[in-house]
Amino acid sequence: MSERKAALVTGSTSGIGLGVATAFAKAGMNVTLNGLGDPNEIEKVRAALAAETGVEVRYDGANLMQPEACAGMVDSAVGAFGRLDVLVNNAGIQYVSPIEDFPVDKWNAIIALNLSAAFHAIRAAMRPMKERKYGRIINIASAHAHVASPFKSAYVAAKHGILGLTKTVALESAAFGVRCNAISPGYVLTPLVENQIPDTMKARNMTREQVINDVLLAAQPTKEFVKIEDVAGIALFLTTPAADQINGASLSVDGGWTAQ
Ligand code: NAD
Repeated sequence: MSERKAALVTGSTSGIGLGVATAFAKAGMNVTLNGLGDPNEIEKVRAALAAETGVEVRYDGANLMQPEACAGMVDSAVGAFGRLDVLVNNAGIQYVSPIEDFPVDKWNAIIALNLSAAFHAIRAAMRPMKERKYGRIINIASAHAHVASPFKSAYVAAKHGILGLTKTVALESAAFGVRCNAISPGYVLTPLVENQIPDTMKARNMTREQVINDVLLAAQPTKEFVKIEDVAGIALFLTTPAADQINGASLSVDGGWTAQ
């Protein structure tokens, strides 16, 4: 078994997940990346992160819409490094539509990835974590885990759900050295947000600038996007001893959005 801590970050081929995986690797953890995308591009990202940090970086292309794939990914990660210290459930998608037109398959996909995949991964990780009496589970929730916005019924439902899952897992595992917390970011300018701008323009009949200023950043008092590094820094903090008594919490990184 490696001396290094081992982390698995879902949805880490881009955006927030890649930022979290990078912060962990820079801190000396071996890392399993996961996510979809062009295999050549992903291999470039994997190799560059390994070369930059000197840790082992592996990639698992599991499609987390499938329950068995979630469990298989966790089992392989435990097998590869002989330990799993940190699990970050980050993979997520978005779809924006008035509810009467909301495609049923989009609802099912968002619940499957943004909520159920975390359940399946935690379910598979809990036994090995309890056996080692150590585990740090971090669920990337959202300001939308605390408040709603129109046209995001599936996303808001899944994110509210993941807070309930976080609290339940925190209580179940507290006596076994395992902690489970959520990070709830406001808007971060990743592909996930870029992709919803055209739909929001259509749904609200607005220009791109109006969507950014009057919708996305309207509720964010700093009037700035949250940076990927801001979220990654909190995730790394949750793996340090200073955070040992943080359990079942949602740490907001939203420029004050949910303080209103
Ligand atoms: P992103 O689109 O940049 O990254 C999403 C990742 O999930 C990618 O690596 C993608 O390949 C992966 N993914 C998509 N479908 C998958 C599947 N079926 N199986 C496995 N992996 C899959 O998005 P992001 O903005 O970095 O979002 C990451 C997380 O942060 C999501 O849970 C999102 O809800 C949350 N979040 C984002 C924001 C924001 O403003 N960007 C705000 C709050 C919360």
